[in-house]
Amino acid sequence: MKHTKVRDLLNSTTTLQEVNAKGWVRTFRNNQFIALNDGSTINNIQCVVDFENTPEETLKRITTGAAVSVIGTLVESKGAGQKYEIQVSKLEILGDSDAEKFPMQPKKHSLEFLRENAHLRVRTNAFGAIMRVRSVLSYAVHKYFQDKGFVYVNTPIITGADAEGAGEMFQVTSLPLDNLPKNEEGNIDFKKDFFGKHTNLTVSGQLEGETFAMALGQIYTFGPTFRAENSNTSRHLAEFWMIEPEVAFNDLDDNMDLAEDFIQYVIKYALDHCKDDLKFLEGRLLEEEKSKPQAERSEMALLEKLNFVLENNFKRVSYTEAIDILRDSTPNKKKKFQYLINEWGADLQSEHERYLVEKHFKCPVILYDYPANIKAFYMRLNDNTEPGRETVRAMDILFPGIGEIVGGSEREERYDVLVQKMEALGIDKEELYWYLDTRRFGSATHAGFGLGFERLVLFVTGMTNIRDVIPFPRTPGSAEF
Ligand code: ATP
Ligand code: MG
Ligand code: MG
Ligand code: MG
Repeated sequence: MKHTKVRDLLNSTTTLQEVNAKGWVRTFRNNQFIALNDGSTINNIQCVVDFENTPEETLKRITTGAAVSVIGTLVESKGAGQKYEIQVSKLEILGDSDAEKFPMQPKKHSLEFLRENAHLRVRTNAFGAIMRVRSVLSYAVHKYFQDKGFVYVNTPIITGADAEGAGEMFQVTSLPLDNLPKNEEGNIDFKKDFFGKHTNLTVSGQLEGETFAMALGQIYTFGPTFRAENSNTSRHLAEFWMIEPEVAFNDLDDNMDLAEDFIQYVIKYALDHCKDDLKFLEGRLLEEEKSKPQAERSEMALLEKLNFVLENNFKRVSYTEAIDILRDSTPNKKKKFQYLINEWGADLQSEHERYLVEKHFKCPVILYDYPANIKAFYMRLNDNTEPGRETVRAMDILFPGIGEIVGGSEREERYDVLVQKMEALGIDKEELYWYLDTRRFGSATHAGFGLGFERLVLFVTGMTNIRDVIPFPRTPGSAEF
């Protein structure tokens, strides 16, 4: 007999048929009631064991974590909170689980404990829910762009370009580390390396993505990205997934429209397709909130927060306006921001960003037109800016509880201006000849952004540590398997 997924059993429209369910025991009560979960849904199906006719030996083996197969009749359940249950006629233990030693008991575990058991944590309700939401969100990402005719481009993981992310790159080599070849100057001879040059893991697919956008019109990437982030924060991973659309003939305003529409679409998609999981995560968060002092509790429950983002436009604020707001604000009663900089031109710290989003505007914020000297070389210089106050057509999207979720810009499409900028910053033009060619042959206005997928998953699931929304987190000092 073919087995049916628990999700389908619970959505069944008929009863009294014989069914087979396979899954793992979450709990076993009164020698009679198995809560069975197979990962297809957050919900368990209750399986009622005929304990009088089941050998004692078998009953003993129905322990938390054990894999079982049950055959029985699907009937309406009298128990609260469940529509159906299975009256078991045949039960088979597929794989035993030593309950004494199994770390994932049905009690609520701390997230730290779960992180230490990364290979087993997916067996908990919370982590299972997060992984299903993550999966649905990644499908929504592709669906959004594919429906709009974007071409999915796989930019390289190993790259020889290191114009961006100096100091944050993981180096790739096939050279023997205990016997590195040296050149005449006594330096490592990367000409002898696999690619005949020094290579790194990608920190962003943008520059390569631009070359494709300038032929295919609208493209997106969605792939693993690597940064040797030395700080141990709850928002940074060494290996994360980035979504990077790039669109020919789009300017900064179009770019903001696209980012906002995209984020709202994927959140809506998750709300529509992950109802049970999000409800569960919301309940879990509400439990957690109870142990916090009133002042620290969030004003909105998870679903309300997600709906709020759908129903309200993101607030668009220029860097200059933001600085004025911050300068006049007193975040801690009397105290002004410590190191804000009466001078225009400094980069914002995350406390400034959080103040703008969480205290001042109380909604997602798009900050744009940043000072040129704190942003990357490829961003479009604004026309008509005061000398000494040059700005670029950059934008960052800031989310409550998260901070930066998107970084993007309109790109500098003018060959001469781009070359000048590269020269001023000492960026090797020969190395980036392929990038400059996009400006030599048929250049046009274009724009794009990068969105950190895990930061999006953080927001949608209401989690607060980025290690809890990726299957295998890589952070400084930790890459177990
Ligand atoms: P941050 O200021 O948070 O370090 P960034 O400005 O260095 O981010 P960008 O280069 O703008 O990041 O990358 C685009 C997006 O990728 C960011 O807005 C963020 O969502 C995500 N991102 C960047 N670094 C990381 C990381 N180490 N782990 C997870 N996501 C990241
Ligand atoms: Mg960074
Ligand atoms: Mg940043
Ligand atoms: Mg950024």
